[in-house]
Amino acid sequence: MKSNKKHYCDVLVIGSGIAGLTTAITASEHGFDVILINKEASLEKSNTQYAQGGIVSQGHDDSPQLLIEDIMEAGDGISNLEAVTILASEGPSLVEDVLIKKSGIPFSRAETGDFEYAREASHSRRRILHCMDTTGKAIEKGLIDKAQKSKQIRLFTNSTAVDLLTIPHHSTNPLSLYREPQCIGAYVFNNGEEKVEMIFSSYTVLATGGLGRIYLHTTNPPCATGDGFAMAYRAGARLINMEYIQFHPTSLFHKDADGFLISEAMRGEGARLTTKDNVPFMDGYSPQGDLAPRDEVTRAIYEEMIKRGDAYVYLDIASYTTIDIKKRFPTIYEKCLSLGIDILEEPIPVVPSAHYSCGGVQVDTWGRTSLKNLYAVGEVSATGIHGANRLASTSLLEGLVWGVRASKDIAAHFDGEKPYKESEIPSWQPPEKEEEVDPALVQQDWLSITSTMWNYVGIIRTVKRLERGTADLRYLKNRIDDFYRKAHLTPMVLNLRSGIQTALIVADAAFSNRSSRGTHYIQISNRSDQRIEP
Ligand SMILES: Cc1cc2nc3c(=O)[nH]c(=O)nc-3n(C[C@H](O)[C@H](O)[C@H](O)COP(=O)(O)OP(=O)(O)OC[C@H]3O[C@@H](n4cnc5c(N)ncnc54)[C@H](O)[C@@H]3O)c2cc1C
Repeated sequence: MKSNKKHYCDVLVIGSGIAGLTTAITASEHGFDVILINKEASLEKSNTQYAQGGIVSQGHDDSPQLLIEDIMEAGDGISNLEAVTILASEGPSLVEDVLIKKSGIPFSRAETGDFEYAREASHSRRRILHCMDTTGKAIEKGLIDKAQKSKQIRLFTNSTAVDLLTIPHHSTNPLSLYREPQCIGAYVFNNGEEKVEMIFSSYTVLATGGLGRIYLHTTNPPCATGDGFAMAYRAGARLINMEYIQFHPTSLFHKDADGFLISEAMRGEGARLTTKDNVPFMDGYSPQGDLAPRDEVTRAIYEEMIKRGDAYVYLDIASYTTIDIKKRFPTIYEKCLSLGIDILEEPIPVVPSAHYSCGGVQVDTWGRTSLKNLYAVGEVSATGIHGANRLASTSLLEGLVWGVRASKDIAAHFDGEKPYKESEIPSWQPPEKEEEVDPALVQQDWLSITSTMWNYVGIIRTVKRLERGTADLRYLKNRIDDFYRKAHLTPMVLNLRSGIQTALIVADAAFSNRSSRGTHYIQISNRSDQRIEP
């Protein structure tokens, strides 16, 4: 397990979604020597790959001010106006420059030849560029092609960042205690050789995406185990707004569906949510019925599930619409049919799913975290744009804008000086006697994390649920930490260690915040529930 392999670069980027790729490409254009890593076997594995709706730009009758107003409204009063203003004013020209001109992303066009701007919930204008319903795939492909052509970027797949290298923590020199703490790279597990290597970098950029996989139901792919939040937390960087987890109301409930999204547009076309015995229930929750806002629908579904002890509800389009379902929703039709559900004839089993983390590693308007020389971009970061809730299709744009800004800031400050002697930073020390990991134990621990998060730190929170959730997660974390220290490392073990740490961060944040706002909904039953223990 011991490895002495070391790599060196100016900028280390951890993650190859839109945020990481944009950072790497921009840094390479500034002449930096860049290493970009992804823990998966192929670069395109990311949340970005799954984005369907599109990316916010500027529509015809639109302006930065209108976008600012929409984002501030969605963020429920706690979005950071400075960051929102940057996103709205710089975003559209970066879409044009980086995605359209330099990377050739083929956004859908109308018959006139002009770009086709879509409109989504809570947007006051049509302003969303999309590539049919596979926008993320097209963006990933364009950016990966560009990164692969650059001689300045080394791309490492199957490389899992384990921990950020920081001084003084990783230095054997006691005098380093008197220096300002800073990040100098990362310990990275080579999944193929099963060895931990070191990457030394002048600047390190976390672009590790979200955390959906810590919940039982999620739209996020397997890579979203919250690694970046956990690494930043362990390195002492500041995290904020971690209680604000956005849930999507309807994902397909099926053992092989893996969080497949069922578009909210179906309800717009007449589909109704019903209980398992086919009774519509939304009218009992909102005067807008099935067309109530996303958060209300999500909570109503969850309440029905809890009340009836059901694992899912139905979304019935076959009985309620007059449109040509197959023509309007071809991807959903095909996906459901492949799993044996004919949506022309029968209702679709659906369940709400964890979708997006509004909080994260706190960064300033240039992507700088509270730890020197560590930046964070994309979903893992908290610029403050999303406040307590995210406006649809703004997250891809945020990754793009902050990817560019982080690299520009690095270029403005780079001096190439090493604040440490390499001999003072020890290689990875594996345990004396490594224990083989029993996958059944890891699976059970994951089940405990995801069901605890779902039931106690999920859509509707109460003080009692959170008390129990944080206690259970803390117990689990102690056990996993103990097991991690002795384990023969594998990607599975590393994901588990990140998952439990990030779950606890979210649960603690939710427990500390007794006011419902945006995506954080907490029922307070009596006065003692309002008290927060110091
Ligand atoms: C189904 C779905 C639909 C969506 N639709 C939209 C939409 O239409 N518009 C929109 O704006 N947003 C949408 N989103 C949200 C959006 O896709 C994400 O917020 C965005 O793509 C995040 O980009 P990112 O670059 O920050 O992270 P990601 O794209 O998730 O990339 C993170 C990368 O980090 C890697 N990584 C993680 N941990 C490690 C580690 N320890 N070591 C090495 N590598 C690591 C991952 O493998 C991955 O490559 C959607 C999300 C989902 C799940």
